Amino acid sequence: MEVGKEVTLFGVRFIPLKVWNIDNHAVAWVQVEDDRKAAHLVCDCDFRDQDKPYTYGGADDPNSCPAKKTVEQERVQKTQRFYTEVLKTRSLEEVIEEIFRRVYEKKEFLGQRRDIVYAQEIAVMVLRPLQEVLAALETLYAQDKIELYGMILIPFRHRFQFPREIQSLLRFMIEEPLGWPNGDAGDCFVGDIERAIDAGTHFKHGREAFGDGGNWPRLRPDIKALFGSQWLAEAMMSYMVRAAQGDEKAQGKLDEIAAFLQKWIDQIMTGRAHEI
Ligand SMILES: [Zn+2]
Repeated sequence: MEVGKEVTLFGVRFIPLKVWNIDNHAVAWVQVEDDRKAAHLVCDCDFRDQDKPYTYGGADDPNSCPAKKTVEQERVQKTQRFYTEVLKTRSLEEVIEEIFRRVYEKKEFLGQRRDIVYAQEIAVMVLRPLQEVLAALETLYAQDKIELYGMILIPFRHRFQFPREIQSLLRFMIEEPLGWPNGDAGDCFVGDIERAIDAGTHFKHGREAFGDGGNWPRLRPDIKALFGSQWLAEAMMSYMVRAAQGDEKAQGKLDEIAAFLQKWIDQIMTGRAHEI
């Protein structure tokens, strides 16, 4: 089987869009003529004789092929050089949007393995820390452009969603009894509630229910201050009751809260709250 040529396997056509020859080993960026028209980076290892079985993730994983890695690395370096220049005049958000469009819609090979791209891969392509890329992705999410599915970039899906803080609280409620954190249990639960609200109410976007005041996808600061102070008061009351019953740990917690609040008060009075 020759990777560089068009082939049909199990009734599906594989069309090579670009082919490299690394030490007589063919590596190709192929388009699969299935419903999705998915694109993949493949090499001779992926199509080697079936009498020599191999497993993805195993010792002879085709994805650990050195020729394939060479092609990936060379392409990533080219992408890095290109976007280092581009980032001198354009924002990280614009660049992420462009990379996403090129990979996801145009099925271009920029150094990734498939026609999907992970946030971690973007960070490598633009030579920026992952945290910076995630912050830019949050801006793109707030603009209804791109969202994350796990760490994979996908087009924004317009629907009702809770602000981040409420999602975290609901996830915690479900996963804490199971042993926090607990896989996808909380995510599935949050998704179910959000879908039910989307289908059964007129709220078709979290912003419509929570208003954003420029803070979406997070709660407005005044709402956080309101609920935060109420929760803190409730926590203090519970600890005070337990401390009065002789619970020393509760007294320790009260001292901790008092010290925390005193620090806040000092910072606010001296106008340095942003330093906390
Ligand atoms: Zn190979």
